[in-house]
Amino acid sequence: MSAGRGLRGVRARNESAWLLPLADPDVDTGMRRFGDDDEVDLVIVGCGAGGSTMAQRLARAGWSIVVLEAGPFWEPDRDWVSDEAGSHRLYWTEPRVIDGDDPVPLGSNNSGRGVGGSMVHFAGYTPRFHPSDFHTETLDGVGADWPLRYEDLKPYYEDIEEELPVAGQDWPWGDPHSYPHTPHPVGGNGEAFLRGALACGIEARVGPVAISNGRFGHRRHCIYRGFCLQGCKVDAKASPLITHVPDAIAHGAEIRADSMVTRVAVDPRTGLATGVHYEHGGVEHFQRARNVAVAAYSIETPRLLLNSASPQFPDGLCNDHDLVGRYLMVQGAPQTGGRFEEEVRMYKAPPPEVSSEAFYETDPSKPYKRGYSIQTVSPLPITWAEHIAAQGHWGTELRRRMTDFVHWACLGALCEFLPQPENRVTLDEEKDRRGMPVARFTYSRCGNDRRLMAAAAGTMEEILTAAGASEVMTIERYAHLVGGARMAADERHGVVDADCRTFAVPNLLITDGSVLPTQGSANPALTIMSLAARTAARLGAGARGGLRRPQREPAREPAREPAKES
Ligand SMILES: Cc1cc2nc3c(=O)[nH]c(=O)nc-3n(C[C@H](O)[C@H](O)[C@H](O)COP(=O)(O)OP(=O)(O)OC[C@H]3O[C@@H](n4cnc5c(N)ncnc54)[C@H](O)[C@@H]3O)c2cc1C
Ligand code: SF4
Repeated sequence: MSAGRGLRGVRARNESAWLLPLADPDVDTGMRRFGDDDEVDLVIVGCGAGGSTMAQRLARAGWSIVVLEAGPFWEPDRDWVSDEAGSHRLYWTEPRVIDGDDPVPLGSNNSGRGVGGSMVHFAGYTPRFHPSDFHTETLDGVGADWPLRYEDLKPYYEDIEEELPVAGQDWPWGDPHSYPHTPHPVGGNGEAFLRGALACGIEARVGPVAISNGRFGHRRHCIYRGFCLQGCKVDAKASPLITHVPDAIAHGAEIRADSMVTRVAVDPRTGLATGVHYEHGGVEHFQRARNVAVAAYSIETPRLLLNSASPQFPDGLCNDHDLVGRYLMVQGAPQTGGRFEEEVRMYKAPPPEVSSEAFYETDPSKPYKRGYSIQTVSPLPITWAEHIAAQGHWGTELRRRMTDFVHWACLGALCEFLPQPENRVTLDEEKDRRGMPVARFTYSRCGNDRRLMAAAAGTMEEILTAAGASEVMTIERYAHLVGGARMAADERHGVVDADCRTFAVPNLLITDGSVLPTQGSANPALTIMSLAARTAARLGAGARGGLRRPQREPAREPAREPAKES
């Protein structure tokens, strides 16, 4: 529940920014430690967007919490480098199998590892979903209706926007709203976008980005050097590592890094989860817990549930209705570069600068349903070389074009690809180094997806040409995996209910992006964190002893106007 708006309100409900810098976790652990045999109130699998938010909220509510995280406990200043090639260990690069008509490359662009999760190297855009996203089936006859409405999530959007905090201009799309921090100045790429959009009559705005603008606790100011996707060394860009983990630890949560969970255990007599099996330092462990929350990202969450099959759940945990792993979504993310006579130097600013949601909603005059958003992306040289190479340029021509890097601007679109049951994660026969079956991700686009992608590419080319580009180059990409254990009104349509509680096991929750039934054309992290905050508020309202009885709606303070902080 919100403790009020403004800086004082944020600090009262989440003190993370004032607890920085974090003590080096390897040297000085002021952190509480639990034993495997301690039956904690909640064990959380994965310390990313969803898992960290749950940990912070429920540690504050007095729950004893252990978060098991497969990757390391990052120390930004020590571990991260201002070097594109040197940042690869931030990504989840364990083996995965991909197939389908349109296989999705996984790795750097699609998931992270370590405390903070994928947000450690996310771009930083933090838009809200639109109210229409919550009932696309009723509204447009595609996708699925959520078992909750935008209004149920709105207060949690407002809370998380303050805690990241989000900077941007007043937002005219979806449910119009303002942001706690004023917009950042824009660089050459943002200027090109604004100029082109104006010439085309397309509305574009600066933001919304999770980069503090001005004073916020002990966070340092953005120095505009463009390494947001490599991990922000100065703590200006938000990730749960700095926005929620410090407060969780201060309230008694243990973050146990380098701990890979391999199975969730369920007592066949009671039907309740009893804890999780995990591997740490090459040794098998079992952490006991009264409740379990899985927040391991859209691929690893279904993989873990499927690998937790038992005589009671022979086809995988919570998979009685063959829904685990299904309806996994990616956003179509075409990327268009435009060459300008003058220097743009797109790397001299954060990649997230300017965006437009003018094409977000279904337009009845178009041959597709739902829509797309457009944002600046500003790839660094290696990613830009991949863009050029994907156009078929190689050898001398690739080198020539790379020496021209400073003259290019670059936009990316996010297209709302539709949820399809055949797009899913299953377990492959191949095993990882622990003997756990690796995830197989099967993905194919539908006709609506293809038409959306083509329309978005056309609009970006139009904008950059109107801004003065003499040449444009578009490549097809994907971004942002969500779904795979979606929420629904009942167990025949989804794996969890509106409170992220699995239908099959009363004390087992899923609190990451896997639960999203649709994805809009907004970047997902803010929605994932807000959903986790709502789930935690509902749990904290009455079920500390376990999720064995129905929950009640927590009382909320009346909404107040957000105060500008800078
Ligand atoms: C390059 C890139 C750019 C992005 N840009 C944006 C953006 O601008 N805006 C936006 O909103 N979103 C962006 N995203 C997406 C966003 O970061 C994710 O959607 C979000 O972090 C997902 O949250 P999550 O809780 O589902 O998983 P994560 O945040 O990925 O957390 C999952 C955690 O679980 C851990 N884990 C996995 N399996 C296990 C296991 N078995 N045991 C223990 N731990 C495990 C992982 O190591 C990871 O730390 C971007 C993502 C990437 C990769
Ligand atoms: S541009 Fe700003 S937010 Fe991005 S990595 Fe650099 S300092 Fe951090």
